[in-house]
Amino acid sequence: MNSADIISRGLHADKLQENELWWSGPPFLVNNEYPGVPMRLVDGDLTSKDEDMISSELKLSTANQVCVVTHIVEPLDVINNCSSFTKLKRIVAWCKRFINNTRNPLNRTSGTLTTSELSQSLVCIVKNIQRTAFIKELQSLEKGTSIPNNSELVNLCPFIDDDRLLKVGGRLKNSNLLYNQKCPLIIPAKHNFTFIVINYYHALYFHAGAETILSLIRNRFWIVRGRNTVRKIIFNCIICKKINSKGSNQIMGQLPVARVTPTRAFNRFMNTFTRKMPQQMREMLKLLCLNSTTRRRLQVVPDNAQINAKDYDMQDTKLLHP
Ligand SMILES: [Zn+2]
Repeated sequence: MNSADIISRGLHADKLQENELWWSGPPFLVNNEYPGVPMRLVDGDLTSKDEDMISSELKLSTANQVCVVTHIVEPLDVINNCSSFTKLKRIVAWCKRFINNTRNPLNRTSGTLTTSELSQSLVCIVKNIQRTAFIKELQSLEKGTSIPNNSELVNLCPFIDDDRLLKVGGRLKNSNLLYNQKCPLIIPAKHNFTFIVINYYHALYFHAGAETILSLIRNRFWIVRGRNTVRKIIFNCIICKKINSKGSNQIMGQLPVARVTPTRAFNRFMNTFTRKMPQQMREMLKLLCLNSTTRRRLQVVPDNAQINAKDYDMQDTKLLHP
């Protein structure tokens, strides 16, 4: 009855061409014969006429129903909010113990945390990080295909171990190193967990340099593009800044006139300290000073000899520059 339903419910173009309802509207509008029959309420079973009318009003469905099941791992808030590596491991370990005790009330665990519980909590943390940061690589490896060429893990030859963790393949499988050293866990560069791991190792090894910290971390974790991340964190370390800071240097004052004005040797010295001495004593003092600082030749002269400073200098000049 409603001509707008033809378009909204879908109709082929060839049928639309012949559809009078679409082009002319309902017959009562064309013939000016409005229906006088009141609305009828259906009570009980529908007649075949009612069913036909209802089916004509139903919208044609052309879409196929598809059911998609997705498995999404959401990042744990505690990993992004915690600021301590050891604290994070203990929090997750306590949570895992609570879950195990709830599921197995007859075999409850109590007491302090054990090393195996802490290592299991680390596995849980890293698994959650890898499932959120390297999901494409993990899916490819689980399918048995190679990881995408544009992935940043291509050069690491990654593989999935028994704990379903992503590890570095590398080329050290025939070495005598420990398994964790040969195949460290891969963690992303920009993640709160990576930051707290770097801070943990940096504090544990007494604020060592970037290369030392990076090599120590690689015994357990492989940080993608880790060198820059480690350098950035150490650069922002307050303690390292205090230790490595240099004191400020004062600007030196202007040199006095005596040091920047060329004069004859001992001229200023004589004028300053021997001003009140007799002339002969001043010349003798000058002679002694010259012999103590330069290569001069002493000559024996009589007591009553008159020593002229000018002659003495000329004599020295001849000796030095024969
Ligand atoms: Zn530091």
